[in-house]
Amino acid sequence: MSFDFLAQALPGVQQLAPYVPGKPADELARELGLPLDSIVKLASNENPLGPSPKVIAAISQAVPELTRYPDGNGFVLKQALAQKFAVELAQVTLGNGSNDILELVAKAWLAPGLNAVFSQHAFAVYPIATMAVGAECREIPANNYGHDLPAILAAIDANTRVVFIANPNNPTGTWFDQQALADFLAQVPEHVIVVLDEAYIEYAEPGELPDGMDFLAKHANLIVSRTFSKAYGLAALRIGYAISSPMIADVLNRIRQPFNVNSLGLVAAVAALEDEEYLQESRASNKQGLQQLSTAFDRLGLSYIESRGNFIAVDFARDAAPINQALLEQGVIVRPVAGYAMPTFLRVSVGTEQENARFIEVLEQVLADAK
Ligand SMILES: *Cc1c(COP(=O)(O)O)cnc(C)c1O
Repeated sequence: MSFDFLAQALPGVQQLAPYVPGKPADELARELGLPLDSIVKLASNENPLGPSPKVIAAISQAVPELTRYPDGNGFVLKQALAQKFAVELAQVTLGNGSNDILELVAKAWLAPGLNAVFSQHAFAVYPIATMAVGAECREIPANNYGHDLPAILAAIDANTRVVFIANPNNPTGTWFDQQALADFLAQVPEHVIVVLDEAYIEYAEPGELPDGMDFLAKHANLIVSRTFSKAYGLAALRIGYAISSPMIADVLNRIRQPFNVNSLGLVAAVAALEDEEYLQESRASNKQGLQQLSTAFDRLGLSYIESRGNFIAVDFARDAAPINQALLEQGVIVRPVAGYAMPTFLRVSVGTEQENARFIEVLEQVLADAK
């Protein structure tokens, strides 16, 4: 018998289930024996527009330098971010995706005997990061699928070190407003770090959602985390960042890997920040897509959670697994969210107009067949 290394892992690690990503399109294409371009993947909240041509040009120029280590300080990108948000360079932490930021926070401040508080139906990486370091997850019942900020506040105790909140949240798409966030931050004890995860913030129109950056000056315990994976369309390159007080950034920078962000990611992110047009196009296309999908759901008599992200959770009011399977068999990949305690829902990422239309057509057929 081989040694039981699972039993020897940290207790929190033993209890973890691995993160289940969206099914890759090429995997489904192979399984169905269909060409790759016939598959519609609306499962991972990816930007359907493809990367900005300016980003592609910037990356191409950086390719000859691939033998070199990236700039471990990410100076050029940090400078661009500091300028954009009018903060000091020392307030910026770069991550290998914003997931990296979430893990760095857990690694720095959580341990057995301590806890992190977050909402039911919140992003799956919060429990993974928390349990991986042996800390306790305090999952607070959602309020109509959204974060119940007063209940989250009430759950904080002397052993709480971190609160994770997402605005908007994935997979629900729910959000809270400026006043709710202000009230919440004003009451969180100063020893507790609040990670405000704004992975989808760029999809909001100005003023539609609170801007976490506006709260940094007043709250030294706040970390605003953002990513280039969603509206900037760079999920494959793994670039995220946190803006916080310099002290928090100093801690995060002590424990991050020296070269956690790769060189193509660094140049891509700088180019992406300069391409405001691409961002506006992403926002406009997403808005239309949300409208297209919700109109179809209304017509089909399906309820859904109103969303400020680039995805919608739609409720079939029965086990959604067979519907998901039937969609897969027709080459359409969406995301089951049973793992988020939402077994009657599927989460549908907003695609291009044609992709959304294809999904709607197949869904309609699947629902008719199931009758
Ligand atoms: C997608 C997502 C992230 C970020 O993912 P990265 O690709 O690691 O930057 C973070 N938080 C939420 C809520 C997300 O949905």
